[in-house]
Formats: sequence, C-alpha cells, structure tokens
Amino acid sequence: MAPHDDRSDVAEEAMVAEAEKRPIATIVIIIAMQTEALPLVNRFQLTEDLDSVFPRGVPWVRYHGIYKDLHISIIWPGKDLVLGVDNVGTVSASLVTYASIQALQPDLVINAGTAGGFKAKGACVGDVFLATDVAFHDRRIPIPFLLQVFDQYGIGLRKAFSAPNLLKELNLKIGALSTGDSLDMSPHDESSILANGATVKDMEGAAVAYVADLLKVPVIFIKAVTDLVDGEKPTAEEFLQNLAAVTAALDQSVTKVVDFINGKCISEL
Ligand code: SAH
Repeated sequence: MAPHDDRSDVAEEAMVAEAEKRPIATIVIIIAMQTEALPLVNRFQLTEDLDSVFPRGVPWVRYHGIYKDLHISIIWPGKDLVLGVDNVGTVSASLVTYASIQALQPDLVINAGTAGGFKAKGACVGDVFLATDVAFHDRRIPIPFLLQVFDQYGIGLRKAFSAPNLLKELNLKIGALSTGDSLDMSPHDESSILANGATVKDMEGAAVAYVADLLKVPVIFIKAVTDLVDGEKPTAEEFLQNLAAVTAALDQSVTKVVDFINGKCISEL
C-alpha cells in the first residue's frame, strides 16, 4: 500500500471544493432496466453512442446528448449476452458506474430505478424516494473475532449526497435504501433490511454508492416503488403489474430533478 500522504489529501479536498462551485456540466444517470431507461432517453432526446466509450463486446449502452446546459449520459448495462434479460444487480451496476465515471468524469451521478417499498415505513406503490443512505443486506460476514469490522464492511453503509434544496423544491419522500442481489426477500435479508432501517429495497443502489465514493463523485438515488415487500401480493407479480405506470412516475421525477440541477453547482443542490 502507498504511504499515506497528507498533502495529496489536501490537494484533493481543494479540487473537490473547487468543483462544487462550478455549475454542473456533466451528469451520468445509471439505470438498470431498459423499460426504466427508454422514457428518459426520449424525454431528453438522447441518442445511442455507437462509438462506445466502453470496452468492445460488452453489452453496456450509453445514450447521450445535450439537454439545456447539461451533458447527459444515461447508462444502461444492457442485456445478458446469453440469456437476453436486463443486466440487473450489483455486479453490472458497479462495473458500469466505474467505467462511466472513468470515461466521462461526471460532476454528479444519479442512480434511478424501481424499488420495493415497505408499507410499514410509509411507502406506497408509485411513490418516488430520494435515498438518504444506502447499505447492503445480503453480505453477511460473521467472522467471530473480527465481527464488528467485517460485519460493517459487508453492510457497506454510505450516505447519499443530501441535496437539501432539491428535496425542498421537489415533492419526494426520503428514506434509507437497502440493496441486495435478489428480487425476493429471505428471512436473513429481512432482518438485515430491518437493521438497515430501510424504507426501500433495490438491487443496485449500494453498489453504485460504493464506486461513486471510491472515485469521489457525489451521487443521488431516485427510486420509484413498484411493489410492496410487506404487502399481500407476490413481489414479481406486483412488480410486473406496476412497472409501466411507475416508470412514468420515475420519468417525471428524474426530469424534475434534472431541471432543478440545470445551471446549479453541487453546493447549491
Ligand atoms: N422480473 C423482472 C426482473 C427485474 S429485477 C424482469 O422482468 O426483468 C428488479 C429490478 O427492479 C432491479 O433492477 C431492482 O433494483 C428493482 N426492484 C424493484 N422491486 C424490487 C424489490 N422488491 N426488491 C429488489 N429490487 C427491486
């Protein structure tokens, strides 16, 4: 490991502070499913990047264009090359977040998508949430004598960029987001989600948070509720039933967020 250097920390902090005072110019929106991405691609009149910034042969798709004063890229991890379904989940989400930040150097990352909600915590189908913090619920590492530290590493709790003015301006609910690689919920997952204090549950958020934190890019999470995890209906059925309508709500909220961001700097959000 490289020796810790205080001077490089100070220089980096100064660069981040400087960037926060410049109007936001470039944003990357990470979206896991094509159904969620396409309405926004149309809304912002983006076009598919045929001269990809990504390695040759990967299924990741970038739609990009100029909307008002912003250069917007919507990144969708594409479809599994063998099975033909959307590349949902943490592995693809972290890979595309890393590759997009490296290639595009955005001022802000937005992870937008659908999520399961907990009605016991006040979520309803169609609600759109801005996540306050994100954590994993399926990375249990109970090594006895290192319990505390490895447990915490597994949970991977990170704060989302708080964006108080954005929250004030838009009619979004707030809550903690818990991420895991399964659509359903095992009893183990359930107790971790409870411990994470989550109101919404998805399959990408905490992975995007990890990479954005690693590369020091502010990130916000906009999650629209397709299904109630603690409701009566089976999750997969409810998810598919509500996907189209909830995607329209997500589209509206993301557009409002982008309109709010336009012309502002990070410190004004
Ligand atoms: N059956 C779907 C599978 C999509 S997986 C299909 O036909 O393609 C679900 C996606 O929506 C993931 O990207 C995840 O982030 C989000 N999601 C919606 N409801 C969820 C829930 N209850 N739990 C976890 N993720 C959920």
